Amino acid sequence: MAEVTDVGHSDPELFDKIVNLTKRRGFVYPSAEIYGGFRSTYDYGPLGVLLLRNVKEAWWRSMVQYRGDVVGLDASILSPPAVWEASGHLASFTDPLVDCTQCKNRFRLDKLEDPEVCPSCGARGSFTEPRQFNLMFETQAGPVADATATAYLRPETAQGMFINFKNVVDTTRVRPPFGIAQIGKSFRNEITPGQFVFRTREFEQMEMEYFCHPDEAAKYYEYWCDERFSWYLELGIPEERLRLRAHDADELSHYSSGTSDVEFLFPWGWDELEGIANRGDYDLRQHAEHSGERLEWYDQAANERWVPHVIEPAAGATRTAMAFLMAAYAEEEVRGDKRVVLRFDPRIAPYKAAVLPLSKKPELTGPASELAAELRREFMCDYDETQAIGRRYRRQDEIGTPYCVTYDFDSLEDGAVTVRDRDSMEQERVAVSEVAAYLAEKLG
Ligand code: ATP
Repeated sequence: MAEVTDVGHSDPELFDKIVNLTKRRGFVYPSAEIYGGFRSTYDYGPLGVLLLRNVKEAWWRSMVQYRGDVVGLDASILSPPAVWEASGHLASFTDPLVDCTQCKNRFRLDKLEDPEVCPSCGARGSFTEPRQFNLMFETQAGPVADATATAYLRPETAQGMFINFKNVVDTTRVRPPFGIAQIGKSFRNEITPGQFVFRTREFEQMEMEYFCHPDEAAKYYEYWCDERFSWYLELGIPEERLRLRAHDADELSHYSSGTSDVEFLFPWGWDELEGIANRGDYDLRQHAEHSGERLEWYDQAANERWVPHVIEPAAGATRTAMAFLMAAYAEEEVRGDKRVVLRFDPRIAPYKAAVLPLSKKPELTGPASELAAELRREFMCDYDETQAIGRRYRRQDEIGTPYCVTYDFDSLEDGAVTVRDRDSMEQERVAVSEVAAYLAEKLG
């Protein structure tokens, strides 16, 4: 049995090891790398794109598909100033920025460990007075660059749900309590991006606005805090690295009567994966006032009109993918050798299986390729015929593939293959004709 080395959050090298692995194995590349990279932007490579998709699909299944009360939306990224005027982002979506007069670096005041000391050069009392810096990316839509052409890249997906509230109510059968969910890119001109994909200027969010009767808002706030916390646990984030932290009164946004963050224990400490907020009727009222549209619910039976209150679970897809990577990473000692393994839940793992012919001889690669083609109809399946089998197993362990299927010379005789389990490394002989069903059952 393998011995597990402690690679919890306490390992100071863990962060670098994981970042290196993601580059080496094609999860995440620095963007525009052949031109020297581009300020905290990243490209998701062949494995990263699968990981990210799996995170988003797991969220979508739990938030939309498995429920009857949440519908989907994909709103535009480009949006006119009116939206952000009404939402309050133009006036107050700002972070306090300070400059160090010694080393000229800029920092977000609220994220400094000691607001008196520059973390870059160590100077004390060298900061300028804080300035409020708006995080929205402004651009021009159309060929004439005047004020009427001003547009913004959305800094959150949430406003798409509020400005489509009436459309959804008028065109579908939803009735409160119901939710509108969206996954998509958001953009923030972060003052201090960093910690790999944790904070970037372009990122993906998974957000849902749950519209309910004002009297039920407190109940649904609790409900969504529980639901969202469980989602991470259920997908394999260990309990000791996850916590739900309620905001103190002085942390709350002016419109929020309650916010809790789901936090993960990153190598640098606890940090946010998702915020669940009780936003009251702030957003619908703001958009009703600015647009002149009635944004409310009409209860025909009771002949009552009311403005729904909103509970918002807002998560980051890219940040969550990073947390899954960090939680999955393990190093083990196996018969004197070090093995690196990503213990992803099979739903999160980029590839679900890999087919590995024992040798490159055509009598093995032929049927092995056929088996891989069959499995690919069900799920993402890798195929690898290079190097010694042991190294191929290690490679699959390192990218988190739950099962390796080896086609060997005996397979030609007995019509069976060896299926190896990533975590236990145990091997089982399974008939070729049964492999798809066997894996489907194991993968759930
Ligand atoms: P922070 O305090 O870290 O700046 P926030 O509280 O402003 O984040 P929200 O506006 O609540 O974040 O956004 C919801 C989620 O979107 C966050 O919990 C996070 O997972 C994700 N997110 C926000 N900003 C970024 C970013 N710059 N890069 C990656 N993910 C982000």
